[in-house]
Amino acid sequence: MAGLLLKNIDKIYENGYKAVNNFNLEIKDKEFIVFVGPSGCGKSTTLRMIAGLEEISSGELYIDGVMVNDIAPKDRDIAMVFQNYALYPHMTVYGNMAFALKLRKVPKDEIDKKVREAAKILDIEHLLDRKPKALSGGQRQRVAMGRAIVRHPKVFLMDEPLSNLDAKLRVQMRTEIAKLYNQLATTFIYVTHDQTEAMTLGTRIVVMNDGVIQQVDTPKRIYDHPKNLFVASFIGSPQMNILYGETYKKDNSIILKVLDKEIILPKDKAKILNDTNNLNTKLIVGIRPENISCKEEDLKNESNTIFKLDIDITENLGAETYIYAKAGSRNMVIKTPTSDNISTIGKIRFVIDIDKIHLFDENEQKTIF
Ligand code: ADP
Repeated sequence: MAGLLLKNIDKIYENGYKAVNNFNLEIKDKEFIVFVGPSGCGKSTTLRMIAGLEEISSGELYIDGVMVNDIAPKDRDIAMVFQNYALYPHMTVYGNMAFALKLRKVPKDEIDKKVREAAKILDIEHLLDRKPKALSGGQRQRVAMGRAIVRHPKVFLMDEPLSNLDAKLRVQMRTEIAKLYNQLATTFIYVTHDQTEAMTLGTRIVVMNDGVIQQVDTPKRIYDHPKNLFVASFIGSPQMNILYGETYKKDNSIILKVLDKEIILPKDKAKILNDTNNLNTKLIVGIRPENISCKEEDLKNESNTIFKLDIDITENLGAETYIYAKAGSRNMVIKTPTSDNISTIGKIRFVIDIDKIHLFDENEQKTIF
């Protein structure tokens, strides 16, 4: 059980590349922290610095209040599960799980107890005599986790542990990891480029881009209140629609003009625009696919502005349908409950839930609201 503190951490590789830039984060005991961001943004580098597999160029790393920059990986009381499992092929599942404990000269009967306990948690008791090559991908992943569990580490580090599994198994293992976390009640730090994994697993999410933390918060707050355009577009599936708009005053109302239509902004939003000096300017407009409606009752409501676009393609996913429409040079996607009267060709008429709209300034792409 452990809390971590990462203070002003930088990583500059030998070739001069700065992979992590001034990373600051306090991780409390028993949190499930997910580092998420596009490939190459510095997630693994950060995780590997915590594990001690990569040197910290500058800054300080504390585990349970102790600075560990110069402490060897094996003495950090941390266990890491990798994406490629890294199992020893010539050893059985039992041997793989017992290996780290044997190295530590743990008594045989204690090793046996720990291995069997972990195997039970992971439901792999029947596989203990098998070699890795006789296991499926999901089973290998379980063994890799078992190897970490037996050590009762203070911190679990996982680097894209599910990326080698097929889609169905990935979803299944994701729930297994969530259960494991509940059961073990220890600190988890998990790296993924998959925003769904981040949203479903993390108690808090760290969104990274280009080696820099963009936002740290709970999944819900990150989704509802992204700090900037990058976070807004990265988190959410399908992605948030990004459009261009402008704001101005007309007949005592504050107008947001988007897709050539004028929307009257509610008073609270108008006030924010005014207070932040964002009137009479061009802005970036973000609207999540589920905050657009093409339901008849919403279209009939006279206070709503009705948009009309050409349908490009529709995708029926069962309970939901995604409607892709052409908005000038851009594509828009609308997420709607599947029903019999969704058009698949021609024009789509829709309204935007103005309370759920996001605005970003054009220069810095920071959130206005
Ligand atoms: P992520 O895990 O987010 O995909 P990484 O942390 O693996 O990203 O890598 C961050 C950046 O550092 C990438 O641009 C990568 O190419 C670079 N990088 C990783 N390892 C090295 C290395 N040993 N030497 C130089 N650059 C590296």
